[in-house]
Amino acid sequence: MIAIILGPQGSGKGTQAAVLRDRLGMLYIASGDVLRSARASDTELGAVVRRYMDDGHLVPDEITVRLILEIMPKAPADRDTLLDGFPRTVAQAEALDEALTEQGRRIEVLIELIAPLEVVKGRLQSRLVCRTCGAVYNSITAPPKVEGKCDLDGGELYRREDDNPDAIDRRLAIWERQNTELLEYYDGRVEHLRVDADRAAAAVADELVDELTRHKV
Ligand code: AMP
Repeated sequence: MIAIILGPQGSGKGTQAAVLRDRLGMLYIASGDVLRSARASDTELGAVVRRYMDDGHLVPDEITVRLILEIMPKAPADRDTLLDGFPRTVAQAEALDEALTEQGRRIEVLIELIAPLEVVKGRLQSRLVCRTCGAVYNSITAPPKVEGKCDLDGGELYRREDDNPDAIDRRLAIWERQNTELLEYYDGRVEHLRVDADRAAAAVADELVDELTRHKV
């Protein structure tokens, strides 16, 4: 099964994806992580990606599609896969469908995490991320046990470059526009799971695990 998870930044996609990876053994591919690693490279590509990402703009489709398709497993894998942050535009969705069709595969499930924009904005402003393992904390609602250090591996916690107020507003505005178009694109093509994400992460996780387990039966 290939599933995609959609929702505004800060709706908990990364947190939920980690649960689905641990509890259902899904392979997790997050375009933000893939692009952040490209951004960190000392190459021309790295410089281009950095310019778009740090201002909260989308990286051009051509670059994003190439990087993601390069790391998607090619064989009709028996490993269930979860895509987070990709596709983000209809052009990306079309490119992905084309590549999957060639392999005899398709997107089966769309998970939509639903949360009010004011809620996610607040979460993004206090989000902290582990530099080593990517675990996500919230300095107000879910702080680490030791300030500045990851509970899991002691890694340094940092604020993402694009979690500043201007970039947050820009990213959410882009998300609103693209999300409507993507939902229209996938309407009727995939099973659509709508999940209330304005709740404790554990409650959201239990619902998602139940729904995806049911889908596989
Ligand atoms: P995220 O970690 O999903 O919030 O993504 C962080 C940033 O990476 C976004 O603001 C974009 O600059 C870039 N990005 C992530 N996914 C995509 C995508 N599918 N297409 C274009 N840019 C993306």
